[in-house]
Parts: sequence; structure tokens; C-alpha cells
Amino acid sequence: MTETADCVFCKIVAGEMTATTVSETERTLGFRDINPQAPTHVLIIPKTHYATAADTAAADNGLLDELVSEAHRIAEEDGVADAGYRLVLNTGTEAGQTVHHVHCHLIGGRPLSWPPG
Ligand code: IMP
Repeated sequence: MTETADCVFCKIVAGEMTATTVSETERTLGFRDINPQAPTHVLIIPKTHYATAADTAAADNGLLDELVSEAHRIAEEDGVADAGYRLVLNTGTEAGQTVHHVHCHLIGGRPLSWPPG
């Protein structure tokens, strides 16, 4: 749960790396994905380092709710909420989690197919 020196998202939170920030609350940060998969592709993270969604849920402190609430607010701001958007929490390497600091992908602004790859 503590900040890890080699965590890219902890570096963004600390201001040691730049990101295109779209939202900030006391406990969360939202910034545009560096490799966007849709017109709106934002990552919403807790400022505190948790590796996965499961770790965040286990902390039982309401952070996951805040990530989802922020995602919806950003979707409205970006004008993609009415058409529909997708929230993704890749959890674990086989699911495609490459950054091991929990993050909620907000993806929208184009039709999205199912199932994901
Ligand atoms: P994951 O595959 O679910 O772990 O998603 C990690 C996401 O972080 C990917 O979509 C990357 O493009 C994104 N990403 C990695 N480094 C940065 C960065 O420095 N700024 C913004 N997004 C990043």
C-alpha cells in the first residue's frame, strides 16, 4: 500500500512525472492515458498506492466508489456519458494489468465491441 519508488503512477501523483490531469480530489487523480484507445481514455487512480482493485476493496475505505464516481463525472464533462462508456479495472497480469497501481480506465467516445480481447 505504500508508495513504491518505481511506480509510474506514484511518480505522477508526486509530480515527478507529467500527465494530462483532468480531475483531482483529496484522494484521487484522473489523467489522460498516454496511449489512448478511444477519444476519451482517462485513468482514475487513488493517490495512495494499492496494487489491485481487490487490494483497494479489501481496505474497505470507499476508494473504489470514489474512482467510479469520478469516472462518471469525467465522462459527463467529456460529453460521453449519454452515449455510454466503459470502465475497466484490469486485475493481474493475465488480465492485461501492466501498471501495478490500481487504475480505472474510462473509455468512451466511440462504439465499443464485446467481448474485449
Ligand atoms: P493496464 O494495462 O490496465 O495496466 O493499463 C495501464 C495503462 O497505463 C495503459 O493504458 C498505458 O497506456 C497507461 N500508461 C502507462 N504509463 C502512462 C503514463 O505515464 N501516463 C499516462 N498513461 C500511462
